[in-house]
Amino acid sequence: MALTGIQIYKLLPQTNCKECSFPTCLAFAMKLAAKQVELSACPYVTEESKKQLAESAAPPIRLITLKADGMEVKAGNEVCLFRHEKTFYNKPGLFLRLKASDPDIAKKVAAADAYMVNYVGMDFTLDGFAIEADGDLAAAVKAVRGVTKRPLILIGNDAAALDSALGLLPDEGTLIYAADSSNYEALAEVAKKHKVSEQTIYTWRKRFGTLEPADVKRLRQLETENAKLKRIVAERDLEIDTMKEINRRKW
Ligand code: SF4
Repeated sequence: MALTGIQIYKLLPQTNCKECSFPTCLAFAMKLAAKQVELSACPYVTEESKKQLAESAAPPIRLITLKADGMEVKAGNEVCLFRHEKTFYNKPGLFLRLKASDPDIAKKVAAADAYMVNYVGMDFTLDGFAIEADGDLAAAVKAVRGVTKRPLILIGNDAAALDSALGLLPDEGTLIYAADSSNYEALAEVAKKHKVSEQTIYTWRKRFGTLEPADVKRLRQLETENAKLKRIVAERDLEIDTMKEINRRKW
């Protein structure tokens, strides 16, 4: 469970040395709780505290690497959920979503695969393709793989269909989507078989293991609301703290 700002504060050196660029350890703790800074910004955290703070310092989304034929797209490992909170370290991947039932899927993918835009001396292309399983997924994957080497995302909730499609993509880092409370166990088996990250499977279990679909929806709403509230409280505490600091210096 994530720690609150006050709990984090108790694990910090509490010297208010300002080397993290915050006026106090409390202000830094509040920002850390809101995942707007990294723990490494404080050089004086003890090893013991680091262990206890590991969860708070961990990125909200784990690193996922999509791979195919030497091409890689990395997503996650960020310390915040939204671009306006802090710079993202990994460039967001640009994937074109297509339907498996589309009879022209190979033609469309070939055209998109060759598309390139040169902007101020840099060449921009698509990073990969996402295939929605509204038809024969394996046949669509075969057709797509025949015209592009870029990484793929497979979208569907039928574990058997995802299993046979992944069988056509050995040694690739393909992303499968989406697990929910009704299919996460079957998808976890498929993911394990095709070596999808253990971390992803653990996250599914943790998130969906004991929940009904309605609970999952409600949980997601609560997570969003909670993140907003945390941000508001952290900002407010920082303001109060800064005002106290200003008043202290004034008088
Ligand atoms: S660098 Fe560490 S000890 Fe110094 S103010 Fe920041 S959190 Fe506190």
